Amino acid sequence: MSERTVYLDHAATTPLDPRVLEAMLPYLTEHYGNPSSMHRLGRAALQALDDAREQVALILGCSRREVIFTGGGSESINLALKGAALARRMAGAHGHLIVSAIEHHAVLHAAEYLQQHHGFEVTLLPVDERGLVRPDDLRAALRPDTALVSVMYANNEIGTIQPIAELGAICREAGAPLHTDAVQAAGALPLDVETLKVDYLSLTAHKFHGPKGVGLLYARRGAPLLPQINGGAQERRRRAGTENVAGIVGLAAALTLAEERRPTSAEQVRALRERLVDGVLAAVPDSWLNGDRVRRLPGNANLGFAGLEGESLLLLLDQAGICASSGSACTSGSLEPSHVLLALGLAPEAANGSVRFSLGHSITEADITYVLETLPPLVARLRAVAAQGAEREPVAA
Ligand SMILES: *Cc1c(COP(=O)(O)O)cnc(C)c1O
Repeated sequence: MSERTVYLDHAATTPLDPRVLEAMLPYLTEHYGNPSSMHRLGRAALQALDDAREQVALILGCSRREVIFTGGGSESINLALKGAALARRMAGAHGHLIVSAIEHHAVLHAAEYLQQHHGFEVTLLPVDERGLVRPDDLRAALRPDTALVSVMYANNEIGTIQPIAELGAICREAGAPLHTDAVQAAGALPLDVETLKVDYLSLTAHKFHGPKGVGLLYARRGAPLLPQINGGAQERRRRAGTENVAGIVGLAAALTLAEERRPTSAEQVRALRERLVDGVLAAVPDSWLNGDRVRRLPGNANLGFAGLEGESLLLLLDQAGICASSGSACTSGSLEPSHVLLALGLAPEAANGSVRFSLGHSITEADITYVLETLPPLVARLRAVAAQGAEREPVAA
């Protein structure tokens, strides 16, 4: 086991920034009031909520009333999809949804739920071999009864960035609202909702050095939304339950820090990512980069290796102290290839031979040097084992 740890899984989660923890601590200790209480402790908590909402609204370029705090990315996405789709159907006869084929499971499974339990028709928008939605495909898929379109801003597996503003303009022309899962975009791309032309936008704090279990949904003023958690009047009756005050304070602090850091850190992270990709592609034969080379998040490198299982490589990397991950899901002991990589047109074996490295702002040149020294021999070792196994296999007569 290696002493060293190189964390290259920032798309899964990020470490909490110590400054964020510091901002949160008073609301876990002396300021423990419930924001709905009228007394001084309640008022102090409410003030913290108001300040956090103001801070976040400034970054999103929206009004405070359009910000709904939630319990994370999956909850925000479920509120957007179910809340918007069901509200629109109540108002008219809207029974059609459009989602891209490479969405996070929170979007895909919420759409599936609406299909199975509420009779919605769902159109899956394909992507090209670089992982990008073609605006013309959206144009063709839109119908007069489309209740909602959901296309992610940046993909969590391959990092590709969708032309959201262009898709937003197309949706507006057709009178259909657009939700974007911006979870991976925060801290890397601008989040101004007017520029993006979106009606709903989801974020989660733990992907930008905030705490886990807290997120937000931006819902444009007047955009229909049926609450999915009923109870008290919190969040203007759109999300009941006593607010996670410390978490919300942490989210706002983390998003503010991420925005301040964005111009410099994006370039620095991109340069390290380029070095990693170039280094691996040069040192490892039969390797490739998944997803568009340019239109991708600065920190994402999704690399494919012919003739091996990505899961086996991840185990060896972990032993060497390198934390990365794959998009494949292990269901009942067998590996399901990533739906994202399959949507790009990769064969299942190529998809299963892919590994995602996601960098953050604390990654150094020395970290990348270590990965470039460690990875190529591990790939060669796995391929040698696979070749030996194939030799020993009885040859059918
Ligand atoms: C992590 C992630 C989510 C889910 O967010 P949680 O806060 O973990 O529920 C949704 N979409 C994308 C693109 C993600 O990367």
